Amino acid sequence: MPSLFKIPLTSLDGIGPKKAQLFSKLGAESVGELLMMYPRTYEDMSEPRRIREADSAGPCCVRAVVEHVYPPSRIRKNMTIFKLSVTDGESRMNINFFNQQYMYEKLQNGGEYLFYGYVKKNYSLYEMSAPVVVGVDEENKIRPVYSLTGSLTNNQIVKAVKQALAMLPEHINDPLPQYILDEYGLCTLDFAIRNIHFPKDSEALLKARKRLVFEELLVLQLGMLRIKTVGRKGRAHTMQKGYADEFFSLLPFSPTGAQRRAVSECINDMTNGNAPMNRLLQGDVGSGKTAVAAAVCYTVVKNKYQCAIMAPTEILAAQHYDSLSGIFRNTGIRIELLTGSMRASQKNHIYKRLADGDIDIMIGTHALISDKVEFSSLALVITDEQHRFGVAQRAALVSKGDSPHILVMSATPIPRTLALMIYGDLDLSVLDEMPPGRQKTETLLIDSPKRTRALGFLRKNIREGHQCYIVCPLVEDSDTIDLQSAESYIESLKHTPLSDCRIGLLHGRMKSAEKDSVMDDFSHGRLDILVSTTVIEVGVNVPNATIMLIENAERFGLSQLHQLRGRVGRGSAQSYCILVSDSKSESTIQRLKVMCETNDGFKIADEDLRLRGPGDFFGSRQHGLPELRVANMSDMLSLEQTQRAALRILARDPDLSLPEHRGLYTECLRSQFAHSS
Ligand code: ADP
Ligand code: MG
Repeated sequence: MPSLFKIPLTSLDGIGPKKAQLFSKLGAESVGELLMMYPRTYEDMSEPRRIREADSAGPCCVRAVVEHVYPPSRIRKNMTIFKLSVTDGESRMNINFFNQQYMYEKLQNGGEYLFYGYVKKNYSLYEMSAPVVVGVDEENKIRPVYSLTGSLTNNQIVKAVKQALAMLPEHINDPLPQYILDEYGLCTLDFAIRNIHFPKDSEALLKARKRLVFEELLVLQLGMLRIKTVGRKGRAHTMQKGYADEFFSLLPFSPTGAQRRAVSECINDMTNGNAPMNRLLQGDVGSGKTAVAAAVCYTVVKNKYQCAIMAPTEILAAQHYDSLSGIFRNTGIRIELLTGSMRASQKNHIYKRLADGDIDIMIGTHALISDKVEFSSLALVITDEQHRFGVAQRAALVSKGDSPHILVMSATPIPRTLALMIYGDLDLSVLDEMPPGRQKTETLLIDSPKRTRALGFLRKNIREGHQCYIVCPLVEDSDTIDLQSAESYIESLKHTPLSDCRIGLLHGRMKSAEKDSVMDDFSHGRLDILVSTTVIEVGVNVPNATIMLIENAERFGLSQLHQLRGRVGRGSAQSYCILVSDSKSESTIQRLKVMCETNDGFKIADEDLRLRGPGDFFGSRQHGLPELRVANMSDMLSLEQTQRAALRILARDPDLSLPEHRGLYTECLRSQFAHSS
């Protein structure tokens, strides 16, 4: 029997090429991957409540008898409604259905059902709209709810998963060895897969979840620990000498204490003759990580080795190239840029010079990990905003050298507990001090009636020679963007105080050449306003931009707002961030007010975690957390357990080559490639 990971989804009934495409958007191309597409949540009808105990905060399940079915009435074209009144013998509830003729035919007077939905309470009147209805004898009382995309429905996924489950072979190879299952009291993979999709009861669901969380975190930890040892077996390139002071004299400013400290920590790692440097540099946006990276490169180049700097986007790579070219202008250091969009002939020329040792600092996007890229003496690998890279990509770059030193830069302040999970035991340098003369970005929260005044304020600043960002109210996910609303947003600005400003648009679906040209216009002052989706979030540096206006601010997490805000306040002029939100929710307003109170990224990250809860923190890739299928913050206990388990496994079997670890080895590879999106 071929592996389920080799069987395409189109082999299932009801899935043609079109539908398969939708599934693939959700991450499932094969039957095996479909089984790993776990439910987002469940409709739990296993413990129905009394009507009067119904909680209006979330959906709940009520068991009740139909007392009366009122005939449907048409309330407008294409909309009929019918009502039920139901009772649990104690209280009464009204239920509305819209356009659900089949329900009308199905529900009988006197019949008893489970109704699952949101209960609204108005004085002593209870009401539920369009609930899920299930017979009281129904087997599956906990129903999976999957993430959806496009026209795909939950039912279609349920059907596909049921077929996939039927294809599970009698004996599944379990990646977790028996001794681990025994030691941690975990259920088998077969039980886990069946019950994570269609739980027999809530106990079975817990068991299934516990096991899958354990496996996921264990594989993650094993992967991270193994990455640390990739190419780590050889000896470090020991630098004979540090060149910090010589480097600092090249800078047009004097470094902050934090920058000096970070540089000397890195240089110490590279000169002490111990294992290669393996360090994380964490610093808020604008804290000056680039200068630290440049200092470390300088020492390496002076010791006659090559450096590589990998950035997640072309814009960022180009910016690093510009910054470093500026700093090293008169030093004879040879710096080049390599990105995917360059012409083949340009690339070939660079490959050759790099292999010949004619380039000292190679800056680029993931184009750097192409097979064709060879270094002659790579001794330092720097990845910027590294969480945008998969573990495998980082490892691929590292493997181009012989145990190079590694510096990972992250602009996302992460609470310590989480750092453990993402970075394992990298050594940590923190830039906790901003360059001098930086003013605190003044942050205001307004509602839309005040927008016109705010735009007038933008106009005034533009007249004074400054530039502004507007983050426009656009949903942009990996591949859908509502361009019309972007354009109509810009159109609408023509009827505001900004009517005569030069406005550019930047969004994630533009070709990189288009993006570059818009960015170039903005950074050279040929545009007054850059209207953008969140693509500007990553590292853009235009010091003359002093105002950022963020529409629908409530849609963003605090950490993400903080990242966005970091685009202004980069020069010496007073900068402003204007959050526009019409949210009526007290908690949302509270959350946004945190932004007005502090500029400290670590404080904001803590608040974000506290206010939004761990689920969201994990849900957002912005935080650099690996995409997890099942685990979340409430699984911290398992995290510690799995970390210990991973260390023990690797101590016994560093290459995961023992027969009982084969499955884990395969899972490590799979997950690393899955994470390297
Ligand atoms: P980030 O940490 O976000 O990558 P950058 O390295 O881009 O920050 O630095 C932000 C800006 O601050 C740049 O314009 C840089 O030249 C400037 N800068 C960095 N360090 C200092 C310093 N010590 N004094 C003054 N300006 C500095
Ligand atoms: Mg940066």
